[in-house]
Amino acid sequence: MNGTAADSSAWRVAVVGGGISGLAAALRVGTACHSTGAALALDLLEAGDRLGGPVHTERIGEFLVETGPDMFVTDKPWAVELVEELGLGDELISTDPTHRRSLVLHRGRPQPVPPGFTLMSTSRVWPVVVSPVLSPWGKLRLAWERFVPARPVDDESLASFGRRRLGNEAFERLVQPLVGGIYTADPEKLSLRATLPRFLDMERRHGSLTRATAVQAAKSKQENAAESGARYGLFVSLRNGLGTLVDALESRVGEFADVRRSTSVAGVHAEDDGTYRLDFGVGTSRPYDAVVLAVPTHVASSLVANLDASLAEELGAIEYASSAVVCSGYPLSQSEHSLEAFGLVVPRVERRNVLAVSVASRKFPGRAPDGHALLRTFVGGALQPELLERSDDELLALVREELAGIFGVRGEPTFERVVRYPRAMPQYHVGHLDRVDRIEERVARHRGLALAGSGYRGVGLPDCVRSGQLAAERLLQSVPAPA
Ligand SMILES: Cc1cc2nc3c(=O)[nH]c(=O)nc-3n(C[C@H](O)[C@H](O)[C@H](O)COP(=O)(O)OP(=O)(O)OC[C@H]3O[C@@H](n4cnc5c(N)ncnc54)[C@H](O)[C@@H]3O)c2cc1C
Repeated sequence: MNGTAADSSAWRVAVVGGGISGLAAALRVGTACHSTGAALALDLLEAGDRLGGPVHTERIGEFLVETGPDMFVTDKPWAVELVEELGLGDELISTDPTHRRSLVLHRGRPQPVPPGFTLMSTSRVWPVVVSPVLSPWGKLRLAWERFVPARPVDDESLASFGRRRLGNEAFERLVQPLVGGIYTADPEKLSLRATLPRFLDMERRHGSLTRATAVQAAKSKQENAAESGARYGLFVSLRNGLGTLVDALESRVGEFADVRRSTSVAGVHAEDDGTYRLDFGVGTSRPYDAVVLAVPTHVASSLVANLDASLAEELGAIEYASSAVVCSGYPLSQSEHSLEAFGLVVPRVERRNVLAVSVASRKFPGRAPDGHALLRTFVGGALQPELLERSDDELLALVREELAGIFGVRGEPTFERVVRYPRAMPQYHVGHLDRVDRIEERVARHRGLALAGSGYRGVGLPDCVRSGQLAAERLLQSVPAPA
């Protein structure tokens, strides 16, 4: 049933980009055509030499190292459903409840994020009262949140909302590192509506985050009241790492598609008959009936430059931040700190050279040999791009110095590795969703063209899966009926 893209009787589809979004799109196109019997010639075109984008798991000695993402949320169901569709449901593992808490750097020392404080609201008062992370004035101002009048707006920066509701100190000391760190973003520009709309909703519906949290806590009977930082109880991974998901997707997609690695697409051109021609930039091109661009928006922008200049301009206006992750393994005996937490976030006001440190071996079992810690230290982001100009050796030295200063981790690591992510994290600035609406309006003018990826309506893996699936569904509306 499946032809190749040269087979003119089949529906010729190209998915450009073999990250999680492109893989999800290709799978949806492949399974839908398979079930209807439509003849399909599907190409998955990936510039790199492997699939998955930042999703990658490596075994380094006895460590299981996620060099990019290491978990995903379950309250957006699409990634879990995909895992189950691929027969990997038994591999899902939850975060270890034993150490389900976060630390925040405060005047150079790691301190617990007050239990119950998650991103921007707290379900418990006492831990905030006794926490050293806020001054008495900062605590009073935080407690005053319930009396701050609601000012519902359509969109607002994280910084503006955080300061307005919780006060400057709680914003700088807790909200900025906890939320800004997830997006490696500048909180003065980060759109709340595009990233954490539930807080805008909480204000709109209950007038205050404190009141909204009290209502929610009463409903959930404070199941996870001791958690702090991110809502870790909602996160899962796979026993042998998220690379397993990429491997399973690659093998399933391979049943329907010609998967071409090291194949970079240079441009998309419209043909007079309503089809597309993909240009590979070396004098070769190929015709397709339908195309999914599952690449970062700055790449999509250059690919569609000849097809639709306005679309290219909107896509090109979405900024990206770069970061690096330094993975290192240490015997726990080399750390003065017990590292009994999922990680540490670093407020900008601390003026350090790292954004966050994730203690991967505390989150999930099997990540490090007994008696060892696997640390993943994040560097760069929108606020410290200059650090990424340093060489790998300089980054390793910088991270060693910071780990020694923060946790008292000393001596030689069992292993260490630098992985760079240039322009990998889209920055959802205020107004982002309006821009995405405009982008979608423009794309709708091009029958057989769809966009997918982290650049649009969510950076997390479940959002990317959904984005790929929706792009596929858009194309499937134009699939020719089986002959
Ligand atoms: C360091 C890091 C940690 C993260 N941690 C988490 C986490 O813990 N949990 C979570 O849910 N999310 C996390 N994320 C976010 C999530 O991993 C990404 O948003 C997601 O993987 C992006 O997938 P994508 O398919 O949209 O893009 P990508 O994975 O970037 O895929 C795009 C693909 O297109 C290819 N490509 C580019 N140009 C071309 C071209 N011209 N022709 C052909 N192919 C091309 C690229 O090589 C790439 O493979 C993290 C991201 C990073 C960078």
